[in-house]
Amino acid sequence: MMPKNCNFCGLCCTLAVKVTEAEVRNIEQLGHSREDFTEKDAGGNTILKRPGGWCCFFERKNGVGVCKIYEKRPAPCKDFPGKPLCDLRDNVVFRLSKNMHPNVKLLWEKAPKKSDPLPKEEPEFPL
Ligand code: SF4
Ligand code: SF4
Repeated sequence: MMPKNCNFCGLCCTLAVKVTEAEVRNIEQLGHSREDFTEKDAGGNTILKRPGGWCCFFERKNGVGVCKIYEKRPAPCKDFPGKPLCDLRDNVVFRLSKNMHPNVKLLWEKAPKKSDPLPKEEPEFPL
């Protein structure tokens, strides 16, 4: 569910995203090799690679974040943040981070603040 205050900053695309085998196969249907886009986390889960701090399928176009596999994005991406408003900017992990990757910092600074006015219309993915 797209939160009402989403401004496509892309900060959520810096989080670890777990993928199921079925989702990996879906993404492979787009012509990607699993070796290129998956890795294992410390717990042995398959997650999307994040070279340079953000997901390998993330790109910035005209100042907004774009998902290159939007139609086949995994469930954690479709479901994020699981509530009407995104408050990732205030997340303690980001707020207290002392060694934030420069790319992550760039997105964090663009993420919506609580004080930002809500957009008048429901946000739609910027294709
Ligand atoms: S971090 Fe929040 S505001 Fe930014 S793109 Fe993700 S959902 Fe939208
Ligand atoms: S798959 Fe798309 S939506 Fe999910 S983290 Fe990667 S770029 Fe973001």
